[in-house]
Amino acid sequence: MIPSKNMSTLDKFHKLALSSEQVKSKIQSNQSNNFELPTRSYWDIIRDNVFNPINNILFAIFALLIFMGKYSDSVIYITVAIINIVVAVYQEIQSKRKLDQITFLTKPKAKVIRTKFEETQEEVIDPLNIVLDDIVVASLGDQILVDGVVIEGKADVDESQLTGESEQVKKRVNSEISSGSFVTSGKLIYQATRVGINSTVNQLALQAKTIRVVSTPLQVEINSVVKVLISVVLFFLSLALLRSFLENNTGFETITMVAVIVGIVPHSLFMMMTLAYGLGAVRMLKKGAMVQQLNAVESLSNIDVLCLDKTGTLTTNEIYLDQVVDINSNAVTGNSLDSILSQYSSLVTIPNKTMEALQSSVKQVDKFDYEVISEVDFDSKRKWSALSWQQTSSNKTYSKANGQQLNIVIGAPDVLFDYQKSLSNDDLQKTISNFSNSGKRVLMVAFAPNLDSDKMLLGESLQVLGLIIMADKLRLEAKEIIQYCYDLGVKVKIISGDNPQSVSALAKQVNVVSQGMISGIDLLKYSDAELEQRLPEIVSTHDIFGRVTPEQKKMLIQAIKKTGSYVAMTGDGVNDVPALKVADLAISMESGSQAARNIADIVLLNDSFSSIPTGFMEGQKIRSGMQDILALYLGRIFYTSLIIVSIMVIGAGFPLAIKHSSLIGMFCAAIPTILLTLIAVPKKTAKTNLLKSQLQIILPIGLIVGVTSVLIYAFFYTKLGIETKEIPFNRNMIGQIKDLNINSISGLVQDKIEYTARSFMVLFILFVGIWNVVVVSPPNNHRPNPFISWLPTILSTILTLVVIMIYSFPVLARFFDLQPMAITPIMIILLASILCNALVYLAWKNDWTKPLIN
Ligand SMILES: [Mg+2]
Repeated sequence: MIPSKNMSTLDKFHKLALSSEQVKSKIQSNQSNNFELPTRSYWDIIRDNVFNPINNILFAIFALLIFMGKYSDSVIYITVAIINIVVAVYQEIQSKRKLDQITFLTKPKAKVIRTKFEETQEEVIDPLNIVLDDIVVASLGDQILVDGVVIEGKADVDESQLTGESEQVKKRVNSEISSGSFVTSGKLIYQATRVGINSTVNQLALQAKTIRVVSTPLQVEINSVVKVLISVVLFFLSLALLRSFLENNTGFETITMVAVIVGIVPHSLFMMMTLAYGLGAVRMLKKGAMVQQLNAVESLSNIDVLCLDKTGTLTTNEIYLDQVVDINSNAVTGNSLDSILSQYSSLVTIPNKTMEALQSSVKQVDKFDYEVISEVDFDSKRKWSALSWQQTSSNKTYSKANGQQLNIVIGAPDVLFDYQKSLSNDDLQKTISNFSNSGKRVLMVAFAPNLDSDKMLLGESLQVLGLIIMADKLRLEAKEIIQYCYDLGVKVKIISGDNPQSVSALAKQVNVVSQGMISGIDLLKYSDAELEQRLPEIVSTHDIFGRVTPEQKKMLIQAIKKTGSYVAMTGDGVNDVPALKVADLAISMESGSQAARNIADIVLLNDSFSSIPTGFMEGQKIRSGMQDILALYLGRIFYTSLIIVSIMVIGAGFPLAIKHSSLIGMFCAAIPTILLTLIAVPKKTAKTNLLKSQLQIILPIGLIVGVTSVLIYAFFYTKLGIETKEIPFNRNMIGQIKDLNINSISGLVQDKIEYTARSFMVLFILFVGIWNVVVVSPPNNHRPNPFISWLPTILSTILTLVVIMIYSFPVLARFFDLQPMAITPIMIILLASILCNALVYLAWKNDWTKPLIN
């Protein structure tokens, strides 16, 4: 059999190529690439959301109530827990599905050279099946799948996802290559030296494995409030149980007390938070961002510092031709600079990024009309490339320059100036620095009559033809988002693995205001102890960081956090993973590495920053909504506690039945706060100590409502023992009240008095609580749609009518363990509640509680 041309090329690898048996044995001895980055499984998502601290409290209360036989009351707690779980799990599963989809789309195939039946051949396999020592083929656009050593071919690879370096790195035979990089030109054949968990990309990605739970300042505050409330509840419970024991109370009374006291834990507050977070996430998705951590939207509105990676995050890692400045081309070469660039970029055989950008924006010529004489490819150290060519006689566009050999050099202006000082003049220098200062990259095009391509020397008498101005291709809205941050007072820092020059050029292009730039290499000069000491100052006096390693990125983020800032990090590559992991908020690009997307709280779809402003607004909305809601909840808890303690201390019975406490919770907290969550507007709120800022309203609500309620109870308890329905509430009643002697009332009447006094007090609490919502969120003209600001008032009116109905119909009233009443006493109580709310409002606006808070 005559070997085909293809076979003969592959035959070279006959000795190195693995046989099926060798592959099999390597798989058995765990030397395969079979390693999948752990993503969150459905089970992880469900487990984390079912057994979180909040739900655990709810489950405990549920179990307690079931144990005491209060089945109908227990339902509330389990319902709240279920709603929490459903919203959070649904939202996270949506995100997971979307993520898995992205992963699936970018899943590559691997081309390996192996021997089968003594014949060396190419095989296309799943990258997971690559084994150690396998020979892998990588062509233009392919991702390097495992670490290895090049055994044939030459290529440029893009390592930006690993290092942040934006320049292509040349790989030749014996060069080491790392998994996670991409071939941007040429073709390589490499032998696998590290696979699976040992490969560079998997080692870095492994850091993304551990689940990262960051609580926002709001969550931290609410969690500590809840902890305090739980201690209060425990204290009350022990008091109540002690009293039951001393007074020999019946089981039923004890159960009532326990259930009412346990109700102090603001269970539906958590549901409101889940709901608010879920709404924010849905709105973000509509604007092009996927929220993977429920609290991420609120988290966004807390940030003081936004750190951005450069390559792949702010830029697409592509450059484009901004403009061509023709200075002297026609006079020197007989061609316009455009025409010179057309020829250069068409004829070049080893294109780099600049050439690719040129090729896509200038007209390409027919290669057969020209003859390339020599070529010097670009080198990042030498900083210039050159091409020498001439037109062939068959060229139809035969020009005066026919036959003239064109030796053209393209390079960094400062390097070319060094070659020949006479090139430099003030005007040219000014033009160049103008472009550089606006963040553009300037390349000079010159004619080099004495070019020596073999020795890579430019020779004397260079003549300037003109300039090429290149710029980084920015991500959508990158520049706008930085301005937006500045407007909000958020600091912006660029932390990049790329060289400091490119980073500062980019910073100028996106208008980052920088106090200073420092490179990762400078940071290495310090000892660990010195660095620890100096870092806080370094991070507060610098805004641009270049040549930073993944570990240094992480260190910088930690240092910024230590200065007391709330830090968001935005990145795309595996090199950003350590930093993303320690940030308060991690944001990644959709096109970024899987590891970065996995760990991110927010993934920017289409790599666009356009959703960030929406996120800020939504986050502020959540915070301002929660601020009002906290006031209502904590105010209610405050007066409920005050009432329980006062009345228990007076010894006038236990003030509330379970049904009353549920009714108050529903009408004064749960229903109104759902509305407040839905209609919340973005507002600037205190970044920390949200609770302290709300004490000005919580204290008046708690104190005024609490004291008035106790007075109402005491009034009816001492003066009344008659069912209001039977004897209408009128002037005659006052006389009858005077005749009552509390000491002569029998036990039965005593119960009735408690029952009546309690009914009046509950009515008052209901009215006052329902209208607290309007105090917190009054109608105003600040909204685009003023009608929305009337919704709390409308809701309060409806709830008031419902309460009046409950008290007016004996069947309904008795269902809730309340005494039915005539309309007149109801109206008197309503009036009292309105006066009470007016007092709350005055106390709040005039800071009457300021001495107490301080
Ligand atoms: Mg990057």
